[in-house]
This record gives sequence, C-alpha cells and structure tokens, in this order.
Amino acid sequence: MNPDKNIELMTSSTNRLLKNMEALTSSGTWELNFQTNTLTWSEGVFLMLGYEPNEFQVNFETGVSVIHPEDRERALAHMNEVLVNNIDYYIKKRLIKKDGRIIHVVSKANLERDEYGKPIYMIGVFQDITEFIKTKKKLKKSKKVTEILIENIDGIFWEADAETFQFTYVSPQVKKITGYSQKEWMSSPSFWMDHIHPEDRDFSVNYFHSETKGLKDHKFDYRFKKKDGTYIWLNNRVNVMHQEGVPLKLAGLMVDISNEKELSATLNDELRLKQNFLKTLPSVFYLFDESGKFLIWNNQLETVSEYSGEEIGQMHPLDFFLGKEKETVHHHIQKVLEHGHSELETKLASKSGKVTPFIFTASKINYQGKTCVFGTGVDISEITASKNLLSESYERFEFLAKATNDAIWDFDVVNNSLFWADGFHSLFGYDLSQTQPSLDLLISLIHPEDRERIVSMITAYFNPKCEQNKWLEEYRFKKADGTYAYVMDKALFIRDINGQVTRVVGSMQDISPRKEYEKSLQKLNEELEAKVKALAISNLELEQFAFVASHDLQEPLRMISSFMGLLKRKYGDKLDEKADQYIQFAIGGAKRMQRIILELLELSRIGRNETDLEVVQTEAFVNEIIEGLALKNRKGKFILDALPEIKTNKALLQHIFLNLISNAVKYAKKDLPLEVKISAEELKDHWKFSVKDNGIGIDKEYFEKIFVIFQRIHKDSEYDGTGIGLSIVKKAVEKLEGEIWVESEIDQGSTFFFTIKKIA
Ligand code: ADP
Repeated sequence: MNPDKNIELMTSSTNRLLKNMEALTSSGTWELNFQTNTLTWSEGVFLMLGYEPNEFQVNFETGVSVIHPEDRERALAHMNEVLVNNIDYYIKKRLIKKDGRIIHVVSKANLERDEYGKPIYMIGVFQDITEFIKTKKKLKKSKKVTEILIENIDGIFWEADAETFQFTYVSPQVKKITGYSQKEWMSSPSFWMDHIHPEDRDFSVNYFHSETKGLKDHKFDYRFKKKDGTYIWLNNRVNVMHQEGVPLKLAGLMVDISNEKELSATLNDELRLKQNFLKTLPSVFYLFDESGKFLIWNNQLETVSEYSGEEIGQMHPLDFFLGKEKETVHHHIQKVLEHGHSELETKLASKSGKVTPFIFTASKINYQGKTCVFGTGVDISEITASKNLLSESYERFEFLAKATNDAIWDFDVVNNSLFWADGFHSLFGYDLSQTQPSLDLLISLIHPEDRERIVSMITAYFNPKCEQNKWLEEYRFKKADGTYAYVMDKALFIRDINGQVTRVVGSMQDISPRKEYEKSLQKLNEELEAKVKALAISNLELEQFAFVASHDLQEPLRMISSFMGLLKRKYGDKLDEKADQYIQFAIGGAKRMQRIILELLELSRIGRNETDLEVVQTEAFVNEIIEGLALKNRKGKFILDALPEIKTNKALLQHIFLNLISNAVKYAKKDLPLEVKISAEELKDHWKFSVKDNGIGIDKEYFEKIFVIFQRIHKDSEYDGTGIGLSIVKKAVEKLEGEIWVESEIDQGSTFFFTIKKIA
C-alpha cells in the first residue's frame, strides 16, 4: 500500500472520527500554525458558530473577530502569556455566532515548540458551555431563592442523621428564633432535647423517633426553652428520607407557632366561653340547615324536649311540634328563609308529650357556606301563667267591683283616665253608659265645704316624697239626683321606684245611714245626759229630803214617846187595862218609827262623804263586828276562811258586814245551833266575799225583792226588822263598784255574795 495513501486514509478516518466526536460533544478544534502564521478551524467550529463547514477562509483576524469584543483583549493577553510564560492555555470566552447570538466556550490548547523552544503550532478545542452556564445561572438563582427563603422564613431548616438523630445542620434562623447560635445548637448532641419543655419532652422525642422508624413524614408541636429562659411553641415538620426501608436522613422545619398557639388558646377560650354561654343560656338555642338538619343546639333543647343529643341530630325541627303547630312552625321557618327573620309563639311538645308554650325567634344566617336557620326559644309558661293569673285577677276585680256595695274606682295617672265600677250606679245613681268619669268630674262632685280639704290631701299624696300610700277620708259626695251622700273613701296610691304615683285604686262607701245613726245616737246621748243630770239632781234632792225628813221627824216622834210615857206615869192608875195596852202600842210604834227613821237616815248618808280609802285586815275587822254582835245576841259558831287584806272604804265595808252578819244571826233556825261562814275569793278585778248561814233560808221568788227598801218577807212579830238593812248593803256594795246576790234554800240556809272592786 502506498504510504501516502495510507496516511490519507488515516487522515480521512481521523477526520471522520473527529467530526462525529465534535458533533456529539458540541465542540470544535482549531490549530494555529506559528510557522505559516495560519489558523485552521475544524467543521465543528464552523457548525458551533452557525456557519456551513468551511464557509469562509479562516485566518488570524477572522479568528479574533468571532471572539466577543469584551473578551478579545483578555483572550489575546492569555495567548501571549501562554507563549511567553509557558503556562497551559485555558480560557473561557464568548464567541459570536453568524446570527449574532453569543455562545460561551471553554478553549483548551496544547502548544508544540521546536528544540529551541520556539513555538511551532498550537492545537486547541472549543467546548460550547452555553447550556452549562445557563444551568449554572439557574442553579445559582434557585439557590439564592432557597437561601432567601431559609433565611427569612420564621422557621429553622435542619438536617439530621436518621440513625443517631444528631443534627447535621440548622439554618441561621436558629439565632433569631431561639437566641442560640448555630454553633451553640450543634455543640451538644442532646442540645435540642435538653431544651424541650419537661412536660413535652418525652412525647416529642418518642414521637419523633417512632415516626422516623416507621418512615413516616410527621409533625409535632412542643415548647422550646429560648436562651432568655422563656418558652416558645415550635411546630416541627419532619421529612424522613429513606432507602430500602431504612431511614437515612431527616430534614425538617421548625416553625415558631407561639402566636398561633396563643391565638388558638384565645380562640379556645372564646369557644369555651361561647359553648358555656350556650349551655347556660336559659333559652333553647338551635341552628339547622335548610334541609332541617340540626347542626348546633344547646343542652337546654335536650332538657326541654327530653330528646338526647343523638336523637336531635337525627330529627327535623317539625318533630318537636304536634298537630296544627307543625304547620305554623313550617310557615315560620319558610318566613325566616324568605325574609331573614321571624318570631313565633307556639307550643313545643317533649318526647313524653309534655307541651310547653314557647316564643321562638329565628334568623337566617350563612354558616359554613350553608344557608341555615338559627334562633332561640324562650319558655313562656310562667309568663302565660301570670297572664292567666292577671286576667283571672282582673276578672276577680270586676266580680268584686260588682259584688261589693262599695263604689270602686281606678285612676290611671299615667294616662289620666278614671274608671268607675258599677257601684257608682248602684250607690249614687250615675248612668255609667252616659258618664265619662274624670278626676275633674270627681272633684266637682265633692261638697264645696269638703272640697278644699280633700283636694289638698290628694295633692299631698301625689308628692313623690310622701311616704303614705293608704288614704281614708270622709266627705260628702254629690249623687246623680243632686243630693249629697256621706262617703268614706279608701284609696291606695301605687308608686313607681321614684315615688311618682302611677295609679290610685279606691273604694267609696256610702256611709249616710251610719252618719244618720251617728247623729241620732248623738242626740240620744245628749238626751240621756240631760236625764242623768236631772236624775242626779232629783237623787240629791231625795237624799236631802230623806235626811231632812228623818231628822225632822225624830223630834215629833220623840215628843209622842215622851208624852205617852208621861201619860202612863201620871194617869196610869186612872186608866184601865185596855188603855194601858193602847199606850203600850203607841210607844212601840213610835220606837219602831224611830228606828226606821234612823236607818233611813243611815241609808241616805251612805256614800255621801265616804271617799276615804284605807287598808283593812278583813279578818280582824269581821271579828270585831262578830264580837260586838255576840255580846248582844246568843252565841254561834263563826268561821272566818282566810280573809284578805284589802284597800277599801272601811265605813262602807262596815255597813255590809254588819247587816249581813246580823241578818244571819237574826234569821237563824231556833232549833239548830247557829253557824256562819265568811269566806273570800280573789277575782281578776274584784274581791268576792260570801256570808253563809244555816238559817231559815229564803224562797227563790224573793231573791231580788229582799234588796229593795222596806221589802220584808216575815212579819214584824216573828222577826224584828225594818226592811232597810239589805238596801243599805246594796247601796254600799254599789258604791264600792261591786254586785250583790243571794243563793238560798228554805230551811237550808242562805249565802249572800258580794264583790268589791280592787283598789291598787
Ligand atoms: P229586815 O231584816 O229589817 O227585815 P232586811 O232588808 O235586812 O230587813 O232584810 C229583808 C228581808 O230579807 C228580811 O225581812 C228577811 O225576810 C230576809 N232576810 C234577810 N236576811 C236573811 C237571812 N240571812 N235569812 C233569811 N232571810 C233573810
């Protein structure tokens, strides 16, 4: 084979190889020959620059001209430096393509020198690195973005070994968020763990480890102690990188969520508050959507309806109502949905069928993107009951107003309206269908003489400072027929908290008959008083008469007696037996007359001047009387039963006991030994004494008579007496403000009782 041909072949195959290689690697080859001062480009260079292969003749100038003007000087300087200082040729520069676009190339070359060190030629390669540069730029840019992100986000980027859980990286944020520098953080393997709040530590570490082992990306919150000692809430989001079921690396982000935590704590508080509010709300609260499904309700609904929360969750609002109410409630809901709001008074039926009156107020709202009805219901049983009570009490009032004999009136101060009940017709004759009552009318009907007094009194009651609310006055009120009736008007003034009178309710009673009666009574009293006066005068006159009479009568009596005695002494022997007997009778009669007169005198004197009071030991006092009597009369048995010490008029008491005891002695039975018992008993206001004998007794028919003057049961011959004694006793007892009476039985004895008023 021809060696030249061989060389040619070799050259062409080398060329082919070069061409393919250049195309594959987007590179081109150049050669600078220092001996011929020529520059040659391979096809790759032409293609790289957008030319057809060998489109033009390359020389040194064209070689320089394709270099970017800004890089040209540097390129030539580098070439020079390679030639002078024998360094490697390596330069990055920009070339200008045929279409003007710019490409980045790396140019590397080898310099061949002759044995004298003189440069012969330089063979180099252009490598198009435009894409690489672009990618690098992009990378740089994205790195920048990541860095900016890393450094500006409120979180710490970190990386850790998935096996040892040792941090391998923490972003600079660590300083800003925790106060610790990256270096401090990395200083100890347990740094992170040591700074977790003790209460959160076990959970956080265990969860972190177990999720990592389970190859699960995860997140958890914990409190972390900052350098200044305070705690922040961190949210740690962990990305577990693994291969073939083995965790390799952990990367994550710790975000400061203290604010959110605080916010959610506040939100929680608020939510709790709302829930508590709803729970404790005395009203029923509910929220249901358009389909009628309950979304929210409070306990009160469960309590009132007797349905459990679970049941309510399945129920429709209409399920809480019965019969016709269902329809009303349905309309109410429709109204809310159409007009936004509605109010309804209805009856809610509980699970057990208990029906409770309720007022529901509902509004349309948008809740979680749905149109809903929310509202409250208030149990109005009490109000209804009190309403009923009110109407009942009003009925009662009306009934009362009708039933009573009084004229009831009701003045509504606020509206200045006066109501008159039927009484104004029945008592005063007013036709209520024709009369419009008013305060002015009322005042005009008061008698002119009473009007000023009544008006000024009412005015005083209207003063808010007046503390009196009940009013009672009598005045004359003009009737429909023009005559006046005496009325007693009783009123109750009702005030508000400021004392202002808001209402006055009253009743008028026609007291004319009573007034008439009072008048006649007064007249009667006056007459009676006059009679008493007259009686007192006549009594006094009578007493005076008795006194004078008895006094004056004694003188002629004494004369009769003494002359009769004289007659007997001087002419006794000349008179016969009969005449002697007559004289004897006349003397006896005179004596008797004298005795009567004396006793009458005593009676008339009783209580005249005897007002002196003294303490009397009644036992000793009575004993003295008995002893005085016993001397004159035959003895008897006297029993004194614990007689008290009393304060009284001694002279009057003397009259009483003396007469009673002497009667007991006088009217004793002849065949039976006398026995007299004197006892006393203390009553509330009086002393009660009794003088009991075992004498002849008194017939019942004479119980009253014996106390009347001159009334005697027995004949003078049988028992000596005047019939004045008990009259004296009675008068004395009455003077001592007591009473006297007798209990007796014929042949069994008598008991005289008398009382005398206690004197303090
Ligand atoms: P006199 O004793 O002087 O007749 P009195 O006024 O003392 O008058 O009594 C009136 C009458 O009452 C007596 O006449 C007598 O019939 C009756 N009488 C009074 N005391 C007793 C007595 N202790 N027992 C029975 N009869 C009596």
